[in-house]
Amino acid sequence: MTYVKQHRHQPRHVQSPLVQAVEHLPRHPPRHPPQHPPHYPPLPLASITYNQSSLATVPLDTTAVPGAQPTLAGAPPLPNAALLSPSNYPALDLPPPTDSQLVQQWIQDVANSGFSIPNIPVNSPGGCPNNTAAAADSTRCWWTCGGCTRDTDITTCPNTLQWGLTYDDGPAYYTPNLLDYLDQTNLKSTFFVVGSRVIEFPAILQAEYMGNHQIAVHTWSHTALTTQTNEEIIAELGWSKKVIKDVLGVTPNMMRPPYGDIDDRVRAISIAMGLTPVIWTRISPTATFDTGDFNIHGGLISVQQVLNNWEYIIGNATSMSNGFIVLEHDLFEQTVEVATGYILPDALAHQPPFTIEPVISCLNKPMTDAYIETNDNKTNPPLASGTF
Ligand SMILES: [Zn+2]
Repeated sequence: MTYVKQHRHQPRHVQSPLVQAVEHLPRHPPRHPPQHPPHYPPLPLASITYNQSSLATVPLDTTAVPGAQPTLAGAPPLPNAALLSPSNYPALDLPPPTDSQLVQQWIQDVANSGFSIPNIPVNSPGGCPNNTAAAADSTRCWWTCGGCTRDTDITTCPNTLQWGLTYDDGPAYYTPNLLDYLDQTNLKSTFFVVGSRVIEFPAILQAEYMGNHQIAVHTWSHTALTTQTNEEIIAELGWSKKVIKDVLGVTPNMMRPPYGDIDDRVRAISIAMGLTPVIWTRISPTATFDTGDFNIHGGLISVQQVLNNWEYIIGNATSMSNGFIVLEHDLFEQTVEVATGYILPDALAHQPPFTIEPVISCLNKPMTDAYIETNDNKTNPPLASGTF
C-alpha cells in the first residue's frame, strides 16, 4: 500500500478538531477491505490527490422524464428541468440581493410566522478565533465553538449502528458516479444541495429525487450563516427552497448550515422558514464526525488522513448507544472516489452491520415527511414557535 504524503504544510486553522484528534493514530488502511466493489475497483490511494487528473464521469443511470410521477405519495408530476432559466435566479455562488420582490416577501413571511428571531449580533468571518465574545456567550448556542445544540437540531440517529448518510455541496460533476454506486448497493442518502449547483445540474437533482434519495437545503451560495444578516439568511434559504421546488415540484423541510455554522438566530430563521437544522455528530467539544474529505481537493489533507478520520469515526460510532451522522461531500471527484472506493465499501462490510439510510428514514419517518408539500404533518409536524 502506498501512502500519500502531505503535499503542503497544513496551516493550523484549516485542521478540523477531529483531524487534530486523530493525528496520533497510526496510519493504516481501513480494517475491512472493500467487499462490495460493483464496477468501481477502488482507485489506489496514491491516485486520489489534490492534483490528480480527472477520470471519467458515468452517465446518469436514470434520466428523469418531465411529467413523470414520483413514487412519493402526494407529490406533483416532475417539472421540466430544461425550462429552468438561470436568468430568473440570483447570480451563482454569491449571496443573493435582499431587495428583490421575492426576498422582501420571504422577509415578510418570517415576520408573520409567529417566530421571534433572537437579537444576536452578526458574527465576523473567521470562526471562533475571530469572535471570542460570541464563542464565550453560551446563550447564543453557537454550534461551531463548543458544539452547543438545541432539542430542535438533528445531529444523530436514534438507534445504535444507524448511520444517517449525507452528502453535501452538490449536485456536481461526479455525483452520478456516487448515485450509480448507491444504486448498485441499494443505499439511499440525504443530499444537502447548494442552490447554485442545482441551477448547473438540475437533471442530477431530479435523478437523486426520483431515485428516492432525500433532498435538503444547504443555502444558495454556501455562506457561513452566522456572518449574515437576518435578511441575507432569508435570501440564502429562500432561493434554495425555491430552486429545488422549481426543479422537483416539492420543497425540502430540512437544512444543513454550511460549516455547521448555526446559532439561535440562524436556528430561529431556519425554523420560521419551515427548515429543521441537521448538523453532524459531535462526540466532544473538539471532535466531530467530519471525514475531512472536502479538503483533499484543496491539497490540505491526504486521502490517508481522511481514512484515518473514518476509522476514528466508526471506532467511536460502534460504541455509541445511538446512531450517527457523518460529514461527507459529493462536490469533488476525490470525495466521491474516497466514498465509493473506501468508506462505503468499508461500512457495508462492517460487522455488526450498520443500517445506512437517509436522515429522514433513520428518524423512523416516511420520505413524504421530508417535503413541505407531501408532509401530512402527523409524524413530522412543523416545529412550533418557542421550541427552543
Ligand atoms: Zn457544505
